[in-house]
Amino acid sequence: MAASPDLPSSPAGDAPAAKAGRKAGRHRGEGQWAMGHFTPLNANEQSKKDDDGLNVRTRIETIYAHRGFDSIDGADLRGRMRWWGLYTQRRPGIDGGRTAVLEPEELDDRYFMMRVRIDGGRLTAAQLRTIGEVSQEFARGTADLTDRQNIQYHWIRIEDVPEIWRRLEGVGLSTTEACGDVPRVILGSPVAGIAEDEIIDGTWAVEEIHERYIGSKEFSNLPRKFKTAISGSPLLDVVHEINDIAFVGVRHPEHGPGFDLWVGGGLSTNPRLGERLGAWVPLAEVPEVWAGVVGIFRDYGYRRLRHRARLKFLMADWGPARFRQVLEEEYLRRPLLDGPAPEQPAQVWRDHIGVHRQRDGRYYVGFASRVGRIDGATLTKVAELAAAHGSDRLRTTTDQKMLILDVEQDRLDSLTSGLEALGLQVRPSSFRRGTMACTGIEFCKLAIVETKARGAALIDELERRLPDFDEPIGININGCPNSCARIQTADIGLKGQLVTDANGEQVEGFQVHLGGGLGLDPGFGRKVRGLKVTAAELPDYVERVLRRFQAERAEGERFAQ
Ligand code: SF4
Repeated sequence: MAASPDLPSSPAGDAPAAKAGRKAGRHRGEGQWAMGHFTPLNANEQSKKDDDGLNVRTRIETIYAHRGFDSIDGADLRGRMRWWGLYTQRRPGIDGGRTAVLEPEELDDRYFMMRVRIDGGRLTAAQLRTIGEVSQEFARGTADLTDRQNIQYHWIRIEDVPEIWRRLEGVGLSTTEACGDVPRVILGSPVAGIAEDEIIDGTWAVEEIHERYIGSKEFSNLPRKFKTAISGSPLLDVVHEINDIAFVGVRHPEHGPGFDLWVGGGLSTNPRLGERLGAWVPLAEVPEVWAGVVGIFRDYGYRRLRHRARLKFLMADWGPARFRQVLEEEYLRRPLLDGPAPEQPAQVWRDHIGVHRQRDGRYYVGFASRVGRIDGATLTKVAELAAAHGSDRLRTTTDQKMLILDVEQDRLDSLTSGLEALGLQVRPSSFRRGTMACTGIEFCKLAIVETKARGAALIDELERRLPDFDEPIGININGCPNSCARIQTADIGLKGQLVTDANGEQVEGFQVHLGGGLGLDPGFGRKVRGLKVTAAELPDYVERVLRRFQAERAEGERFAQ
């Protein structure tokens, strides 16, 4: 395999590369290329240096899909295939207690998870129909809605991957850089371009960034994943605080609608909210500013230790003032305009569930499955239902939900009935609306506990026990200490781990975090010291917490306060 160049040229020309040349090899540092710290390389950095992740596509198409799973090179299997949205899924039957002690190859199934990136959550009916058909034909019907607006398949065979790409790409979808140390899917407001209260429509920027940079080798070797969010909705509906970069709609007092720039957010271990750089960015400059920030991450990001490689660690050391200075001086070569902060959203729910008027007089309809679990047959029917009601546009949300746009008023009742017949609720309970779950032990190799089925069962149980509970509540369930389902930002965050039950047995359970939130009250939930619940106790515990809240809250108090 061809070795990739040590340092790609920066968007601003030669500034970091020149520094690298001057300082290369002096001392180890944190692995920042721009400081000349190229060695030593950890295994991930070595793999990326050996060959660009994007290059694995050719090997999949010409070798692996023909010769089968056993022909796949180990570094491709556990590394580079992510650049095309492919991870091996967890081998069935391995309990959570063995997750941390088995070698990666012992956890690997011979099937893959495949993530379809849906930038801005934007789908046509034809695209959704294709996603559903691929699911039924190649993924045993699986198709989970993720909390980053993607759709995720399971049970994918390597032999079928080229045909799946052909079908998806035939309708303008892709799995390019859906995983890996690259710019992942770009989150966008699900109501961009249609909402009555929109400050600015960021759709052009989402599409332009995708067009210019996704799949480009300029940014195909970053220190770690890079997450983007763009929304001009006053509801702040793309969890902007926990992305590596976010553009948030604001009105500048002199220049009008544009975006407030946030950098350095992220969850998982060492969670950190993004910080404002105090800069106002007009729509036309969003792609250039985005590329500047990604360039800083590529050149100055920490690569020595994998667990310190997200942009948030660089931001923690630099702070927003220095970050902005480097962005302006080395990458943009011009100053940015100062700008205002976004206003607090006027409501807690930001998921667009229910029936809402668009600014063109038509309506959009937001609906909920349980914890994003849906299936290919249902998605195909949703696509057909949308088309039968005059809509060709659908959206995914950052809350594992979906929207159908452009519905005439006289078709709303029929559409709502059709969705409800598919088990998709337009007026869900607070529990169905506010509960999310990550992939969990069913398919994820890092998982310690089951999440999806448990989350769905918890919703059913809470609906039965607390039928009148109608407060906004977020219950997020993770299968391990990572934070794919954003536990730190939930009212009730549940982190999967093994716990000791009353009989002294190690069983599946959760560490409880209470009182996190974004938007109105951004902050991370507090780990409740020593509070761990077994999975079996979970409905009782959540019911107790919610009943106590109902009984003791002050007038107007929300759960997170
Ligand atoms: Fe897997 Fe853990 Fe992420 Fe859940 S939180 S999907 S268990 S890595």
